[in-house]
Amino acid sequence: MPKLTVQDLQPKGRQVFVRVDFNVPLEPSPEGPRISDDTRIQETLPTLKLLLEKGSSLVLASHLGRPKGKPEEKYSLKPVAAHLGKLLNCPVPFASDCVGPQADQARAALKPGEILLLENVRFHPDEEKNDAEFAKKLLGTANIYVNDAFGSAHRAHASTEACAKLASQAAAGLLMAKELRYLGGELSDPKRPFLVILGGAKVGDKIGVLRALLQKANTILIGGGMSYTFRLAQGRKIGTSLCEPDKVDLAKAILAEAGQRGVRLLLPEDTLIVQELDFAGRKVSPGKFTKPGEDIPDGWEGVDIGPKTQETYAKEISSAATILWNGPMGVFEIPACAEGTFAMAKAVAANQRAVSIIGGGDSVKAVKKAGFGEKVTFISTGGGASLEFLEGKVLPGVAALQDRP
Ligand code: AMP
Repeated sequence: MPKLTVQDLQPKGRQVFVRVDFNVPLEPSPEGPRISDDTRIQETLPTLKLLLEKGSSLVLASHLGRPKGKPEEKYSLKPVAAHLGKLLNCPVPFASDCVGPQADQARAALKPGEILLLENVRFHPDEEKNDAEFAKKLLGTANIYVNDAFGSAHRAHASTEACAKLASQAAAGLLMAKELRYLGGELSDPKRPFLVILGGAKVGDKIGVLRALLQKANTILIGGGMSYTFRLAQGRKIGTSLCEPDKVDLAKAILAEAGQRGVRLLLPEDTLIVQELDFAGRKVSPGKFTKPGEDIPDGWEGVDIGPKTQETYAKEISSAATILWNGPMGVFEIPACAEGTFAMAKAVAANQRAVSIIGGGDSVKAVKKAGFGEKVTFISTGGGASLEFLEGKVLPGVAALQDRP
């Protein structure tokens, strides 16, 4: 690990500013907003506990949602303070603004072993402007900075970049370090065969990562909406399936590059097709499978990979030594179109010899929903950030952390 981590710090008696990712889903309840999934809070507990054990006091900052630079009740982190208090079994006071007199007073009152949670940093436009003056106020009297919010590390914001640069020490939290170890370490020199499963809606969103992975992977299994642009590039008919006509040339170039590099890039042989898809209502008209190799007829739309493809992909997955999976194989949100994605989750979980790394919200949901969360090696918490990292882009929130001496 080239970056300084919390394990390297000696923060006894000092105040530590911790950028966490408490961007959790909230749902209404009679007692007020309720956290419907606290995974992100749970995952940062080891970092918080370690820092508390080391005798520091903690000032926690996070964003929640996209409040556009002004306070909005529905994006308040207040319910998170109460929830965190329960998880840590100690009071977690809440500052109703992340900067200003109330926050300053609350931090001044903090004793070693105590925690303060600041209100949503995105209630101030200066956060997303990466403003140094705002960052100074955010840091306050804390001169040690810890970033455990990998999911926000691809953003150059005040709490992710400017604060890190201002602090006398800037280190990765345990969760951040784990992300860097798996996405960086394990995948920089993967055990072979290295297999990638790539799905999701659009080729356009995954072009960068596809290009980067073509240089490393032995096999790439394509699924989801992005597969139809590739099929179109091969001169096949795709009916009314999702497609990006302006990316057809790019898809052709990728297929050619895979051929030149000797990377096996597999596309779905058969497809679940429907005539009507009501995404909001989460339903589709009765579907049928195309025969292997058959085109999608006019008026029909591909919504999932078919049984033959599931079988072929599962066989490929069973012989891989390293597996990276990002993106669903179909319109996974609709139960009738989720089978292909679940089949991939099952196949990945069944290969216990491989190092398996899952990233991206939908594939993570599929693995957890199928009950295989414990059977994969690593689940990445950062969708966009993990893709950018795998593309080889510099993540500002990581770059700003100090290197180990
Ligand atoms: P991404 O964020 O790029 O990983 O894409 C995830 C989205 O892709 C999910 O909301 C899926 O419903 C959608 N998706 C996957 N397969 C298809 C498909 N065949 N047609 C339309 N959308 C799809």
